[in-house]
Amino acid sequence: MAKAEQLHSVKGMDDLFEVDLATWRHVEQVARDTFLSYGFGEVRTPILEETAVFVRGVGAGTDIVHKEMFAFDDKSDKDGSATSVCLRPENTAGVVRAMLEHGKLFADAFEQVFYVGPMFRREQPQAGRRRQFHQIGCEAFGFAEPGMDVAVMACVHTILTRLGLASTTKLLINSLGDVADRHRYSEALVTYFTGHETALSDDSRRRLRENPLRILDSKDPADRALVEGAPKPLAFLSDGARDHFNAVCAGLTRLGIPFVVDDALVRGLDYYTRTVFEFVGEAGLGSQSTVAAGGRYDGLVETLGGRPTPAVGFAGGIERLILMLKAVALPPAPVTPAIYLVGVDDAGRAEVDRLAYALRLQGINVGADVRGRSVKAQMKSADKSQARLSTVIGSGEIEAGMLQLKTMATGAVSPVALNAHALAAACR
Ligand code: ATP
Ligand code: MG
Repeated sequence: MAKAEQLHSVKGMDDLFEVDLATWRHVEQVARDTFLSYGFGEVRTPILEETAVFVRGVGAGTDIVHKEMFAFDDKSDKDGSATSVCLRPENTAGVVRAMLEHGKLFADAFEQVFYVGPMFRREQPQAGRRRQFHQIGCEAFGFAEPGMDVAVMACVHTILTRLGLASTTKLLINSLGDVADRHRYSEALVTYFTGHETALSDDSRRRLRENPLRILDSKDPADRALVEGAPKPLAFLSDGARDHFNAVCAGLTRLGIPFVVDDALVRGLDYYTRTVFEFVGEAGLGSQSTVAAGGRYDGLVETLGGRPTPAVGFAGGIERLILMLKAVALPPAPVTPAIYLVGVDDAGRAEVDRLAYALRLQGINVGADVRGRSVKAQMKSADKSQARLSTVIGSGEIEAGMLQLKTMATGAVSPVALNAHALAAACR
């Protein structure tokens, strides 16, 4: 029979193994703990959403919706009619959909949620840019005050600090103003870019008609040159938006969180108002240097069918955080057994089974053989496992009710009673 053809993962989607996942768990744990410490509770929504959630929530003219979504038609169980569904490219719109569907955004509601999970965008894969990637993120609803903008940025900064990455990242902030400010700003951009239309990329000529702000986000070198000379949104802020922005800057200063006002910063999604921000890494990221980004999106909830609800949040890329971690810090120690139990004879092997089970019930990491191998082979496995302790169990030890406990690093040996209670104590 011919050998079956080798199967491959989908382009830009990665398999991850334990060597990498020790770092992943560390990043996710730090993020979860930090979110909880800032009063955010976890939310998990489906990975598959109706495409309309993002068309309405992120904006039809954005790169994400226009070019990057994995969407397909899902046939209705009832009449076979089709609904377009997609793998979620981001999570803010999906979270708002869920909050509205479950009636959580009633008048005067205050809600703070966080999420950790995979997102999908059909982009050109490279280091730090994958088609399946993973985000941590949070959203606060109901808070109009600048204090929550500051809290969200402080939360990201805390995660970076606890990962050892704060000193190699920079916080950039800007304000896009309120809807009316954005509108006036947009008109100024149209006037400016129309004057340079022939020099714009094809994509940006389309953006000029659909949403001129998108041009500011373009990565095309020709566009970049023109963007430098374009009008800046800070010049168009209303008094309210300006006060808000000043209060955000003052709040960050009060906490001693360094930031730079970048008046050219805009974000790739349509829903932002007032504050926008990015944390940009200096190490290990090449051109994919933004590790986390977010801002205020006071109009989004209404766009998705809810009451007007102020909101602010961010999303950060786990892959990029890990690239940075690898560049600046040692990886976390691998997970290893506290003890390796070696069975000498049949009675000893049976005792190993019982003790390993009893210790694992208490959450202790135990190494043990399940293949009935020789003592020599088990000893070799004990070494390889990097267990802290080991002990050998046979009929003699069972009769005496005593074990010799070996500290693997030094070879030192000490006696311990043969029962799960005494062994558990020795492992702690
Ligand atoms: P970029 O400008 O790098 O394309 P973006 O503006 O599209 O980023 P957001 O939609 O704001 O990114 O997502 C927030 C974060 O998620 C980014 O800062 C980045 O860390 C991460 N991220 C976004 N897209 C990808 C991807 N394709 N692969 C890996 N991480 C990503
Ligand atoms: Mg992008």
